[in-house]
Amino acid sequence: MRPFILLLTILLISINFLSCENSKEPMTLIESGISKTLAEQRKANIDEVKYNIKFTIPNQLEKAINGENTISLNLKNIDSDLVFDFRNEAESVSLVKANGKEIPPQVENEHVVIPKEYLKKGANEITIHFTAGEQALNRNKEFLYTLFVPANASTAFPCFDQPNIKAKYKLDLTIPSEWVTCANYPLIEKKENENVTTYHFEETLPIPTYLFAFAAGKFQKISTTHGGRKMTMYHRETDEDKVTNNAITVFDLHAKALDWLEDYTGIPYPFEKFDFVLVPAFQYGGMEHVGAIFYRQRSLFLEESATVNQKMSRNSLIAHETAHMWFGDLVTMDWFNDVWLKEVFANFMAAKMVNPNFPEINHDLRFVARHHPAAYSEDRSLGTHPIQQKLENLNQAGMMYGRIIYQKAPVVMNQLEEMMGKEKMQEGLQEYLKTFSFGNATWDDLIAILDKKIDMDLKTWSQAWVKESGMPHYEAQLKTENGKIANYNLSLKNKSSGGNIWSQSTAFVFSKNNKIERKSLIINDKEMDVDFLKGKDTPDFILPNGSQSGYGYFELDKKSQSYLLENIYSIDDEIIKFVAWQSLFESMLRGKIEARDLMNTILKSLPHEKEILGLSARLNYLEEIYWGFLSVEEQQQFFPTLGKDLWALMEKSKTKDIKKNLYNTFVSIAQSEEDVNVLFEVWKKTKKISGLKLSENDFTTLAYELAVRNYKDSDNVLQEQLKNITNPDRKVAMEFIIPALSNDVATRDAFFEKLKAKENRQKEPWVQRALSYLHHPLRADAAEKYILPSLELVQELQKTNGIFFPKGWTSTILNGHRSAAAAQIVNEFVKGLPEDYPNKLKNKILQSADRLSRRASIQD
Ligand SMILES: [Zn+2]
Repeated sequence: MRPFILLLTILLISINFLSCENSKEPMTLIESGISKTLAEQRKANIDEVKYNIKFTIPNQLEKAINGENTISLNLKNIDSDLVFDFRNEAESVSLVKANGKEIPPQVENEHVVIPKEYLKKGANEITIHFTAGEQALNRNKEFLYTLFVPANASTAFPCFDQPNIKAKYKLDLTIPSEWVTCANYPLIEKKENENVTTYHFEETLPIPTYLFAFAAGKFQKISTTHGGRKMTMYHRETDEDKVTNNAITVFDLHAKALDWLEDYTGIPYPFEKFDFVLVPAFQYGGMEHVGAIFYRQRSLFLEESATVNQKMSRNSLIAHETAHMWFGDLVTMDWFNDVWLKEVFANFMAAKMVNPNFPEINHDLRFVARHHPAAYSEDRSLGTHPIQQKLENLNQAGMMYGRIIYQKAPVVMNQLEEMMGKEKMQEGLQEYLKTFSFGNATWDDLIAILDKKIDMDLKTWSQAWVKESGMPHYEAQLKTENGKIANYNLSLKNKSSGGNIWSQSTAFVFSKNNKIERKSLIINDKEMDVDFLKGKDTPDFILPNGSQSGYGYFELDKKSQSYLLENIYSIDDEIIKFVAWQSLFESMLRGKIEARDLMNTILKSLPHEKEILGLSARLNYLEEIYWGFLSVEEQQQFFPTLGKDLWALMEKSKTKDIKKNLYNTFVSIAQSEEDVNVLFEVWKKTKKISGLKLSENDFTTLAYELAVRNYKDSDNVLQEQLKNITNPDRKVAMEFIIPALSNDVATRDAFFEKLKAKENRQKEPWVQRALSYLHHPLRADAAEKYILPSLELVQELQKTNGIFFPKGWTSTILNGHRSAAAAQIVNEFVKGLPEDYPNKLKNKILQSADRLSRRASIQD
């Protein structure tokens, strides 16, 4: 596959060179993708862009989708040719007209070129007839949907695929008459002609290509009106109870989010309509297309047994996507290097919105639970990068996304708000949105607005937190004399910090006999003594960071660490407990605490956990240590009754959420014959768990878990489970995953081979689920041989799959492994990468390999 693609590229380039030599005027070879230079040239010369796009979508998957795009635009000069982006074969362009005159189609290295002699200064009209490339059209038998972020609109139709050439779109869609459709703007009219219907949509306000979207197919439609605003939801769920149980809440959450945002921003919802489409196996949780948000169906239609956590996640997702209508859609980044900005705002707003809906929840705890562990998982790795990255070509834009953007940036934004105050921050954001409405803006534009509002050097702060990489590592040293503190010192340990000191404000905490004292502390030096502690009685423990706003690895002094390993469960304050746990876990990752000691601390604390967020964080640590850091011998020798203990704790627990979390961990770690039999009995429904209702997905998971443990009758279990599934989308998902679970190695090998073809990797959530079993720790030895060829595929995945897939792929694979040999494979692969290997992609691999390489270095 790979050599073939390479060959094709070389061939293409040489043909282009040949044609250069033959033509009268020498042409420059246009770089593939969208280089920053091309984007800047176009932005300077082109405005007032309107696309009039027509697509004809046939019923049969094998028939091509034909399109026409008539683009009107204004040119400030005609010194150079006009270059459209179109990442499809040259033959797919069948006709080009420039200002009424048909001209020979000229397609060069992913671009359609209109020579300057056919152009004029001022208004121009270009018409292009083409066959659509299907990479971003997600065609299925009964439906299709577009997903153009970050720069994939140009795979489907010729356009200026950069975020700062915003355009008005007028879409005409011809589809089979039994289908329905949803696009960015309302329908004007539809005309039926035999078996097909043409839908004419209203012209949009200026939006970037990555937010232009439509879905079409066999969808169910439900509409409702909230405060005079009509909303329509499209979905493909066949379980009517599930739809009834969820629909009202889903509409209501959207309506509340819209009201909240109108109020916070002082700007009414900026677009014409507001609908959403629920797509089975959608690549992301959601995507904020103007007026037509697309979601993964499962993220919004929850099971009846859904936990409070899942409900909050749904609420956050809805709030996040709705916030994008202002942050991202109304004001768009200038270039994809600032993609983090729209994401951080969406998360930041979502956190503000979701809180009042769950008064029973400790939101500071939720913030720290949702952000810090995930952010640290990438920021501590060798593949870390600054929040704001450099981006030379949009064909690398998909690699900008990750936890540094989604989880670290909100922590940084929170610190900014803390320094500015909530009101000043809101004022600043309102000014930013008003100033740049329907246009584009950069992070520096925002900092310039905020800088005027406070007395602080925001530029230096932004340099450390936004423009440079890594997380601070502070080490604490405690000296005591006669039961009193002689000195407490914090020092920055980062080797490559340069001038960075990551100034931040934290809550300093010290505790004696369960009496906690807090003091705010500003850390703004590489080395500092905490003077207010001098002479105090030696406390049980000290935490330099005891709040949700601090960020970094705070390595505790030895006395505090050993106290907490024994007694952490007795801390009442959930935030303090959470950040203390983080310090211990980070120390375990660095070999400063034994994995099995921390495991014992977790087991000791579980019966005391009353707060679901705390409990689930501890259970995550448990699973991570159990599968990632303990050898099989250690598992058996030191934790022989782990399953039994978890089960007993689950039976005793009163709350549904806590029960479900303990149940999930039991399913994950069950290994003894007795525990595996329990899995079977639960699946067979001969064993019931009082107070816990399991869903169809839970039973499917049980069937998978039995199979991966080579349970005696697992083939029949899988087949029977498959028969029990009625929803056709879930049925095909299971059929796809089953071969990855086979206890026949040849079947698993064949499954892995299949993944090398891009058409078998389209359903990304299915692929990831299958990979998690293919590389399950229990089968890691046999799966080691897949690691290298999987890593070799990563560069291709970046071209053929969604933006989160390369990281998802490598993490899912590497998280199953813990052997030194596996770490070695990754190591050598990374070392052997050619110099021109995309650095951002290498970072994704290094991020994914963090746990594996830490485990290997601890073993050394
Ligand atoms: Zn987002």
